[in-house]
Amino acid sequence: MSRVIVVGAGINGVTTAIELKKRGHGVILIDPGPLPHPLAASTDISKAVRAAYGADEQYTKLAERSIKLWREWNQEFGTQFYHEVGVMFLRQKELKPGDFEYESFKTLERLGHKIERMNLARFWRRFPAWNPELYRDGVLELEAGYVESGRVVAALVGRAKSLGIELREGVRFSHLDEDSDRVRGIVLDDGQRLAGEFVVMAVGAWTPYLLPFTKEFFRASGQPVFHLKPRQAELFAPERFPVFGADITTTGYYGFPINRDGVVKIANHGPGQEMSPESPKRAVTPEDEKSLREFLSSTFPALADAPIVYTRVCMYCDTHDGHFWIARDPERKGLVIAAGDSGHGFKFAPVLGEIIADAVEEKPNPILQKFRWRPEVRVGSGTDVARFNPKTSNA
Ligand SMILES: Cc1cc2nc3c(=O)[nH]c(=O)nc-3n(C[C@H](O)[C@H](O)[C@H](O)COP(=O)(O)OP(=O)(O)OC[C@H]3O[C@@H](n4cnc5c(N)ncnc54)[C@H](O)[C@@H]3O)c2cc1C
Repeated sequence: MSRVIVVGAGINGVTTAIELKKRGHGVILIDPGPLPHPLAASTDISKAVRAAYGADEQYTKLAERSIKLWREWNQEFGTQFYHEVGVMFLRQKELKPGDFEYESFKTLERLGHKIERMNLARFWRRFPAWNPELYRDGVLELEAGYVESGRVVAALVGRAKSLGIELREGVRFSHLDEDSDRVRGIVLDDGQRLAGEFVVMAVGAWTPYLLPFTKEFFRASGQPVFHLKPRQAELFAPERFPVFGADITTTGYYGFPINRDGVVKIANHGPGQEMSPESPKRAVTPEDEKSLREFLSSTFPALADAPIVYTRVCMYCDTHDGHFWIARDPERKGLVIAAGDSGHGFKFAPVLGEIIADAVEEKPNPILQKFRWRPEVRVGSGTDVARFNPKTSNA
């Protein structure tokens, strides 16, 4: 059994640490904290969980498994992290082959998911906050919803401690401790060395900054997130306002029903602003707010002037083909990088630890082929089409 250092205690790091510990390894998990870290992508009130992934059956099936496990986690932790309120992806025009929504509908239908086509006027009576004039068609996935992501990370950190994982909160990775061809551990920013046979870097949008040799593989970008308090709360109750993507390919907007604190979260998925997660520029701009207000006026008139009670800029860590990057570094033995899940990775939390631990142990796992080390997928390689595609981002 090995001694493994897991750097970063967001969802990737904490699930990996737990899985490796269960497999008998000695595990140290480090993070600057406090946990859940306020700047981490994983830390927010909600993340969408859906199996709609266009024509991509591999992601659909992985999400299917995750959804089953989310239900189990609700039981196991004795609290409701996962809310199965449904997820709908809508379009202003009729769905056609090639659209994310159309392909999702077809794939989900083929795989026997509970779905509804949203192309009849009567559907809109169920969702009174929506402007029915604007949206014509779409797909409603019933066995989908959202998870309370910050609470999930906090609970998993608690589980990690109770399993005997050595959690070093309050320390910061500085650089790898490496020989010519292998990693020996890490060096913290106070100069302390931690030795390990394996280092798993699970630092999300920090990856290209902490491991400069990955700059060509990952793009860290900030995306605006808004929490609003609607005046007519009843319009945004989960049964009338499931998680949605509102013609996401053209508007970028998606959002969540009201939570127990009376908050409706709406966010935008787009090119974002490339920046370090610790950049002083990391704040929602007046243009972001103006564009949100325009969207709300046309789509949800009852939210148009709702007070904004909180904003954050959440950091994507994109690969240039939109897929995870969970792989051993062929040039630095002992190093595994688990990142690149841009805006869509949280839903896979219940299966992530297993996938990343398989990469550490070199255990065969078919999905690892998709997430392999692929230096050919880099800036300007012509593969960055998927970056703004809802199939692999947000919601
Ligand atoms: C706006 C937005 C919306 C999203 N919506 C969804 C959604 O609806 N559904 C979905 O499934 N996914 C969604 N995602 C994606 C999801 O949030 C990410 O895939 C996931 O949270 C990434 O987790 P992570 O552990 O890789 O990174 P993070 O959660 O960012 O964790 C990285 C950790 O590394 C730590 N770290 C940083 N520097 C150091 C250092 N020097 N030393 C040690 N540790 C360090 C940080 O403190 C942090 O805890 C969204 C993401 C964003 C930004």
